[in-house]
Amino acid sequence: MTSPPNSAKADLVVIGGGIVGLALADAWLAARPADSVVVYDKETRLAAHASGRNSGVLHAGFYYAPDSLKARLTQQGNALLREFCHESGVQIRETGKVVVTTSPEQMPALLELYSRGQANGVELSLINESDLAELEPLARTHGHALWSPNTAVSDPAAVVEALATRVRSRKGRVEMGTEVVGAGPGWVQTAQGGRVSAGHVINAAGLFADRVAHWFGMGMDYRMLPFKGLYWYGSWEPGRLTRHVYPVPDPRNPFLGVHLTVTVDGRAKIGPTAIPALWREDYSVPGSWVDGFNAADAWEIARTYPRFLRSPHHDVPGLIRTEVPKYSRKHLVKQAAALVPSVSHKDFTKRGQPGVRAQLLHVPTGKLEMDFVVEGDERSTHMLNAVSPAWTSALAVANHVVSGIVK
Ligand SMILES: Cc1cc2nc3c(=O)[nH]c(=O)nc-3n(C[C@H](O)[C@H](O)[C@H](O)COP(=O)(O)OP(=O)(O)OC[C@H]3O[C@@H](n4cnc5c(N)ncnc54)[C@H](O)[C@@H]3O)c2cc1C
Repeated sequence: MTSPPNSAKADLVVIGGGIVGLALADAWLAARPADSVVVYDKETRLAAHASGRNSGVLHAGFYYAPDSLKARLTQQGNALLREFCHESGVQIRETGKVVVTTSPEQMPALLELYSRGQANGVELSLINESDLAELEPLARTHGHALWSPNTAVSDPAAVVEALATRVRSRKGRVEMGTEVVGAGPGWVQTAQGGRVSAGHVINAAGLFADRVAHWFGMGMDYRMLPFKGLYWYGSWEPGRLTRHVYPVPDPRNPFLGVHLTVTVDGRAKIGPTAIPALWREDYSVPGSWVDGFNAADAWEIARTYPRFLRSPHHDVPGLIRTEVPKYSRKHLVKQAAALVPSVSHKDFTKRGQPGVRAQLLHVPTGKLEMDFVVEGDERSTHMLNAVSPAWTSALAVANHVVSGIVK
């Protein structure tokens, strides 16, 4: 456990030391090197939540509506993250990615995705089956597929560690094991060190960002709905699968569908799912259902669900029908086999570390927010929907947000 800054005063306090909080602290220090900046994280180790429990895919930015923050900031974030990894010696594997169809009926959706990519200015090609066979011999499609050369992969936790090192080298403080239990404009209260006065507070609390925002009277229309991502590793020799292989996503939901990724060390991995989680940090898997169970959290989520269940914006019964069976490994592997037929449940038996997506629900409309949501004023800023691809986009998101605060 660590102490608050000696002066109990900081120009900037960041709540949450995941990739988003660290990127914001880093961008602030780059703009105002003389400022005192402290990042508090309740965990004793870095990357304990989404920032260390994701696929590590550097997305290219073609999925998102052209007028969205995601479309603007993912391409920039991809380039900035590459540069950062090269500078700090974190490995990147240039896998590229193919998007394949599982039936001829998916062709219009594939073409729609292609048009989005073009509207967003992302390098993306429409390829045929023989091009696909050259790029990724294990993948199958029906007629056409998409090829994204700028999608890559890295080790998500290694990136977070390197970013914390850069924040510290800029004289920022990253205080682990320090839980923020209350905050408001100009102050933050930690469980460990009392009250700290803050020129500006940034809330980058991930799964708890809605709760922290509510302390400031911000984001009052929003509640977090957590969705669990499960993974299985294959026993294939490293390098057998060379490209990430993704399906065409259902545009009604903010998730990309079960896919195969290649890890930075060349292993094949299936997942993640988007199974409704029962509480925010619900990393439970069959066989350890009550791991870290939080009753108060579960009750709050149970009260939020009915609004989502009645949502006219999403196919919620369809989502539940398709996602919940993915607790079964055999079922999940079967879905992946529609993209890569040689995938077999006998080869994918090693469970990966589950992750939970901090997905924001707009309660009045019952809509899952698709874009990043940032609210704030001159005293505080709230990163309310730092969902995928916020790991890719974090450095660009941070520049965008900090340039709006620091004049
Ligand atoms: C399964 C899965 C797969 C994904 N795959 C990808 C991918 O391939 N590519 C990509 O770009 N994105 C991906 N994402 C999304 C990406 O992981 C997130 O967008 C990103 O990590 C969000 O970062 P964050 O800093 O907001 O959240 P977090 O990493 O969750 O950080 C929030 C931090 O706040 C701390 N905290 C919370 N409350 C408090 C408090 N009261 N006091 C102090 N500290 C507090 C927590 O301990 C935590 O460390 C994926 C996400 C998931 C779940």
